[in-house]
Amino acid sequence: MDMIDPFGRTISYLRVSVTDRCDFRCTYCMAEDMTFLPKKDLLSLEELDRLCTVFIEKGVKKLRLTGGEPLVRKNIMHLVRQLSRHLQSGALEELTLTTNGSQLSRFAAELADCGVKRINVSLDTLDAGKFHQITRWGNLGKVMEGIDAAQKAGLKIKLNAVALRDFNDAEIPELMRWAHGRGMDLTLIETMPMGEIEADRTDQYLPLSLLRASLERQFTLADIPYKTGGPARYVHVAETGGRLGFITPMTHNFCESCNRVRLTCTGTLYMCLGQEDAADLRAPLRASESNELVGAAIDEAIGRKPKGHDFIIDRRTSRPSVSRHMSVTGG
Ligand code: SAM
Repeated sequence: MDMIDPFGRTISYLRVSVTDRCDFRCTYCMAEDMTFLPKKDLLSLEELDRLCTVFIEKGVKKLRLTGGEPLVRKNIMHLVRQLSRHLQSGALEELTLTTNGSQLSRFAAELADCGVKRINVSLDTLDAGKFHQITRWGNLGKVMEGIDAAQKAGLKIKLNAVALRDFNDAEIPELMRWAHGRGMDLTLIETMPMGEIEADRTDQYLPLSLLRASLERQFTLADIPYKTGGPARYVHVAETGGRLGFITPMTHNFCESCNRVRLTCTGTLYMCLGQEDAADLRAPLRASESNELVGAAIDEAIGRKPKGHDFIIDRRTSRPSVSRHMSVTGG
């Protein structure tokens, strides 16, 4: 039985944040001094597998592991290996992940062996000093090694860069040429007001409409209907021959085609990235060995999926639109 929400949208895409922890502290994502969930509150890998399997039985075709940083969760490859059986059976069409790349050199070959075909790597700058500044704890060299290893293992990579005013806007042409030169798509993302951070989001926020206009002065961008199942709208760049995506939660609401829900590492289901409403799946999962209770809880939650988000970033609104950080639900 497919999961269909009150607005007629079929839910076929599950994103799972397997940990809220990360080995980076990107300034637009987290505060430097974060309080993470106690380990005892986490679902075990077996419980995550069981829950994902219930979603797959209910029609999920695409599953993305995210975080926090998914590759810092202990024994994460055990979960990937377990989930890969659904690729083999044909129940799942795609198993993928979003990563900061810091651990990829260790895991790329095994991910490919588990049937992962493509991954998203978040990378906001190619300048090692700026990379350290924005991630606070990151090492660009390690990420580059990870990207090399992933390409060597045959994984297709899409780069994601958050567009940050006066930080990487001038560098986007270089990042794009570099990505396209290595056969990678690049997607630009508008920063979203999620969770308290030290920086002022108004200073960081750069509408992608402005960035696109500036790119169009140097490049020939042609809209194309290419889709990866996500909210990005793509253009073909004549000068590089590559694809550039725009994810515009602030300037262009794309919720009418939303096909996804998000599960956290504690078993909380968020039906929208930009809203506070959530459903607890951990209690019904643990209450019974059969999946009936948790299945009913999922159906009830899908029945309350909201029409969309309403993020606001302006100088009068100092509080984030959504109190939780992106690392809780994943990007
Ligand atoms: N650690 C992994 C990574 O770096 O890709 C997965 C989790 S991270 C939260 C997922 C994506 O969300 C990254 O591309 C990150 O840049 C982006 N992100 C984090 N906070 C954001 C925010 N407030 N607005 C827009 N994107 C954000």
